[in-house]
Amino acid sequence: MTPPRNSNAARDIAYALHPYTDHKAHLQNGPLVISRGKGVRVFDEQGKEYIESVAGLWCASLGFDNERLVQAATDQMRKLPFYHAFTAKSHEPLIDLSEMLIERAPSPMSKVFFANSGSEANDSAIKMIWYMNNAIGRPEKKKIIARLKGYHGITLAAASLTGLPANHKLFDLPIAGFHHVSTPHHYHNALPGESEEDFATRLAEELEQKILAEGPETVAAFWAEPIMGAGGVILPPAGYFPKIQAVLKKYDVLFVADEVICGFWRTGSYWGSQTLDIQPDILVCAKALSASYLPISAVLVNERVFQGIAEGSSSVGTWGHGFTYSGHPVPAAVAIETLKIYDEMDIGGHVKKVGAHMQAQLRARFADHPMVGEVRGTGLIGAIELVADKDAKRNFDPAQKVGARLTKLGEQNGVIMRAMTNDSIGFSPPLIISEEEVDEMLNRVAKSLDEVMVQVRRESLS
Ligand code: PMP
Repeated sequence: MTPPRNSNAARDIAYALHPYTDHKAHLQNGPLVISRGKGVRVFDEQGKEYIESVAGLWCASLGFDNERLVQAATDQMRKLPFYHAFTAKSHEPLIDLSEMLIERAPSPMSKVFFANSGSEANDSAIKMIWYMNNAIGRPEKKKIIARLKGYHGITLAAASLTGLPANHKLFDLPIAGFHHVSTPHHYHNALPGESEEDFATRLAEELEQKILAEGPETVAAFWAEPIMGAGGVILPPAGYFPKIQAVLKKYDVLFVADEVICGFWRTGSYWGSQTLDIQPDILVCAKALSASYLPISAVLVNERVFQGIAEGSSSVGTWGHGFTYSGHPVPAAVAIETLKIYDEMDIGGHVKKVGAHMQAQLRARFADHPMVGEVRGTGLIGAIELVADKDAKRNFDPAQKVGARLTKLGEQNGVIMRAMTNDSIGFSPPLIISEEEVDEMLNRVAKSLDEVMVQVRRESLS
């Protein structure tokens, strides 16, 4: 259907180049224009209501109408709308937020660097590691190992960390020096009969072999999300991270935890690193740091990494890295207010309770569904993976676009969903969601799933 001339939809088609969008299809179908939000819901320009089952992009942790965050931004804009942090300038929001993050870190951290997005934070962390290793006289130690299906962003280096074909193939990526080891997904990648523990041991051995093949003196860091998010909400097998960390320690390879999705209670602990038993040397966070009311991300580094950077900036010269908006006072003020709200409302206690309910409901409703191969998750992050053959764990042919069709039906039924690779449907609602809202959300998901199943069955008969 062609949208009316001069409508928002028509003007969007005429002028907007969207992230992660099939543009040929978009020219035909147009956008879903969202115009306002309330609680865990958003409303389109016709007033139709949707439950946001992924909090936008895993990020609107406090929902869509928090007045305290509006007030924090307004107050800061009136007081000091901008100042920077170059050449030792500072301001109170940057100082307060740095202190709060260091106090909350899952392992001993020393300093915080701010950026505007998860990608920028990951790029910054890569550059810190390279800079540090140059400064301390080991310029050959630069290679980075990440994981297939990991997601770390889309700038050139962050996209190189990412382990998904869509982010590499047509972009001539990854750049040199970035390597990927296997996805720790027991459901698909374990050998027949292999226990989680044995699978984890095998993955740690694979990492060790990779480090030895490249030469330990050339490998600088290992990058991981505690739970893989955009790659399909993949939880590692039991014992995985302790085994991985033992290998990294042996060869003096830094562990960088990308907490962009998992940070701030998403997994039921303050950090995903705590849920998954990780003691990172560097931690990257964003999204729920400011409840996504304004863009801000952070890189926390331990004392050793900081000393390397300090060494470089005094012996080599300027630490030539930083963004105009690194530590911008307005998003920093919103982040401070966000962290205070998390503490005051005991969002952790809430996530543990409602998260347990969501996990139980996901399993009760979908584990036996003929189209669902695996239900997985913890806290308020989860996924169902759609399969063509449940016994063989065989996914649908991507050409069938089953996940995309499900999300389209979801929109009709009032739930915004996210389909990822292998038709995994992710759930990561605002952390403030209630048990009743979880039920309402999953009712809409279940209805949509049954409708897509009717479509798929009809096609296989014809
Ligand atoms: N790391 C992870 C784990 C992410 O999920 C994302 C975004 N979904 C990023 C990094 C990149 O963040 P941004 O889109 O803000 O650049």
